[in-house]
Amino acid sequence: MYLPRFQYLAPAGEAELASMLAEHGDKARILAGGTDLLVQMKAPGLWPDYLIDIRNVAELSSIEFDDQDGLTVGASAKLENILNTPAVAERYHGLYQAIETIGARQILTMGSMGGNICNASPAADSPPALMSFNAQVTIGSTQGDKEMALEDFIQGNRKTALEVGEYLKSIFLPAPAAKSGSAYHYFRVRGGMEIAMVAAAVYVEADLADKSLKDIKIVLGVVGPTPIRALEAEDMLTGQTPDEDLLAKALGSCAAVSKPIDDFRASAEYRREILKVLVQRAFGEAYTIATS
Ligand SMILES: Cc1cc2nc3c(=O)[nH]c(=O)nc-3n(C[C@H](O)[C@H](O)[C@H](O)COP(=O)(O)OP(=O)(O)OC[C@H]3O[C@@H](n4cnc5c(N)ncnc54)[C@H](O)[C@@H]3O)c2cc1C
Repeated sequence: MYLPRFQYLAPAGEAELASMLAEHGDKARILAGGTDLLVQMKAPGLWPDYLIDIRNVAELSSIEFDDQDGLTVGASAKLENILNTPAVAERYHGLYQAIETIGARQILTMGSMGGNICNASPAADSPPALMSFNAQVTIGSTQGDKEMALEDFIQGNRKTALEVGEYLKSIFLPAPAAKSGSAYHYFRVRGGMEIAMVAAAVYVEADLADKSLKDIKIVLGVVGPTPIRALEAEDMLTGQTPDEDLLAKALGSCAAVSKPIDDFRASAEYRREILKVLVQRAFGEAYTIATS
């Protein structure tokens, strides 16, 4: 099917973007890379009158890392550029792994982190990894900026906290602790160009004296309408030196808190079993990095 008719707008800066969104309200949609939006617009349902292309809004495409503060990624920063940022590979390994798995070269070149988040697909790869780093987002509008945790921003299947006239400006990840590690593991049947069936992101901070866990975040992906923090499992492990029994209990808790669907790709029961394997692998990798 062809794209429906729409008016194309290309603001030159953030102030113009905010006023265009305020003027056109829910008749407008932001166009970043278009790898989700333009596909969706070919089916009936999502037919905005205005597409506001943010490619010329330079303020939204920057990627900055400060060793003390952390990483700030502009909402329209291309996935490929994030992968090519040395600090991402060196300090945010789990995020690097999550982005690397998205689509193929063309999708990484066109697609943005903001688009991956705002599309709010339960199968999106970057949100679980971002949440494992405690990501915060900044939202802009003509009313000024506001901040919130990414966990609160993604509210459901294709639903975010964005209100009419608002846009995602940037994503901030605090600097990981020196003795920390992270990993993102996913499962899909085919090798590439297929969305994940189950995924898990883990961040750990270790105490090298006794190899105990000072901090741990476990985020379960594609097993609910939004990524799920495995809070009970995190509590079980925090302050402990992990052993087989404790880990088995934590994995059981992850499976219990997940809400996978039953569909033609896999049963809910199968997804829960795979989830435990993925959390175990992601934890193992993150813990090895943190303690080495
Ligand atoms: C072949 C193919 C394979 C794919 N594989 C994967 C995969 O493996 N894993 C995965 O996670 N995704 C995958 N995707 C989905 C997609 O590529 C990603 O979600 C991508 O990151 C979207 O970014 P974009 O810039 O193209 O977003 P767009 O399509 O431009 O926008 C997506 C949505 O977000 C909104 N939006 C974008 N930016 C903002 C902003 N700053 N403020 C407010 N709203 C905004 C848009 O209005 C739209 O509703 C795939 C897509 C295709 C076509």
